[in-house]
Amino acid sequence: MDKYNRRKFLLQARNLTYVGATSWLSACGGAFSNSDNSANPSPNNSEDEQQIIVIGAGIAGITAAQKLQAQGYQVIILEGRDRIGGRIWTDNSLGFPLDLGAAWIHTIDGNPLSPLVKQFGIETVISDIESQWIYKDVSQLLSKSDELLINSAFQAFMDRVNHLKKAPQSLQQTTLADVAQQIIESEEITGITLKGFRATLSSAIESEVGEDIANLGIKGFDEDSAFSGADVVFPQGYIQLVQALSKDLDIRTKHLVQQIAYDDSGVQVTTDRGVFSGSQVIVTVPLGVLKRGSIKFSPALPEEKIAAIERLGMGALNKLVLKFPQQFWPSQPHTMAYINGNIPDRYIEFYNWQKYIQQPILVAMFSGDFSRSLSQMPKTEAIQNIMTDLRSMFGKDIPLPTATLLTQWHNDPFSYGSYSTFSINGSLQDCDRLAEPIGDRVFFAGEATYGKYLGTVHGALLSGAREANRFITKNTNG
Ligand SMILES: Cc1cc2nc3c(=O)[nH]c(=O)nc-3n(C[C@H](O)[C@H](O)[C@H](O)COP(=O)(O)OP(=O)(O)OC[C@H]3O[C@@H](n4cnc5c(N)ncnc54)[C@H](O)[C@@H]3O)c2cc1C
Repeated sequence: MDKYNRRKFLLQARNLTYVGATSWLSACGGAFSNSDNSANPSPNNSEDEQQIIVIGAGIAGITAAQKLQAQGYQVIILEGRDRIGGRIWTDNSLGFPLDLGAAWIHTIDGNPLSPLVKQFGIETVISDIESQWIYKDVSQLLSKSDELLINSAFQAFMDRVNHLKKAPQSLQQTTLADVAQQIIESEEITGITLKGFRATLSSAIESEVGEDIANLGIKGFDEDSAFSGADVVFPQGYIQLVQALSKDLDIRTKHLVQQIAYDDSGVQVTTDRGVFSGSQVIVTVPLGVLKRGSIKFSPALPEEKIAAIERLGMGALNKLVLKFPQQFWPSQPHTMAYINGNIPDRYIEFYNWQKYIQQPILVAMFSGDFSRSLSQMPKTEAIQNIMTDLRSMFGKDIPLPTATLLTQWHNDPFSYGSYSTFSINGSLQDCDRLAEPIGDRVFFAGEATYGKYLGTVHGALLSGAREANRFITKNTNG
């Protein structure tokens, strides 16, 4: 069989990594609630009004709290779920750790996560996302000539996008799907080349951003950055990092924040367990939560910030973990996908998790409207739907999974999506607008506020560090 090393081509062609990469499972649950302080007495207004209140115990909130506490500030984290980690969610229900949210450190060289992993002695394993096998029939990979034609179509797409990015503002309303259609027509792309071209767009862009190219604009394309080097996963779970960082922090889980009121004298945060008073608040809830207006701000957020929240998008990347009685797929590839189906916008990538945890596990990942549409189906139907791709690659006699985990991040009330995108009209400036503090009272962190590394764990971590530093600087300078 031939190996179709498509992603490698894409990364070279684009000179970027569109980083970022989910019962319908409730992402609220979790076995790793090591800091479950939900039973701690919840205060009324009596608690120390000098404390800094951090909302959200994801990597951004924990990083901010840890840095502030290290400087001697009194910090408390209010977290709505019954677990810490947010979109870092290691599930253990199958008897071994599986990451249902973030799984990779994308590009380790220069990545701020790398020294932390080293410091805490956490095991990681290289995940070669370039090692991808693309099937067009049972046991049949794309031919070399198929690959060449698909690569050339994708190159034409990239050239056109890069050209349009330099064009006047009006042209920048164009979506990436518009450009793809132009290329399909001008290059007269048909048959397996067309299917391969669409799959390449899904793999290189949609799976990474979590959104369909119909909902992505030229303006925001390739605006974010990456480090260099390999990608790695955590055989024992990403949560180890969160647990190590959150040691000694006062985290109140199961505290759903409903309102943030602020004025010259301080902040008051209303939860379903009482009101917390403090000197400042750092809001790290996901963009999806801000978009839904789940938290009421009093006074309301500035118009500029509201407009930025509207312009930025929230993707829907989801995962289906499939545990089989035994491995029936090849050992070599890190990922596999079937591209010869008849539904144009359907693309599922299967990650060979056996490589990382020595268990017969495939992790299917899918995004955008296809991912959202699966949640309209009963769980068994959704699983059958995804299994059809495996049968198309490995034959009708493959075994049924013995256990499955299916996520639904886009319906999760604590995230309403997987991670942020620039959508059609959003930009780096919108992330900056989101990050802008309100006076000396309300600060904002979280992946959506860090456009340079949008939608990543390292972006979220850096955003938490940035707000802690901003706070310390403001306080030091009076
Ligand atoms: C399926 C999936 C795969 C991903 N893969 C990767 C990957 O491989 N590598 C990578 O770098 N990134 C990946 N990401 C993105 C990464 O997980 C996020 O960018 C990062 O974890 C965000 O951290 P955060 O602290 O900004 O937000 P979160 O982790 O979402 O933390 C925010 C916290 O706020 C809490 N909260 C929300 N509303 C309220 C409320 N009203 N009251 C109290 N608390 C509230 C939430 O429960 C949450 O704990 C992935 C994300 C998903 C969903």
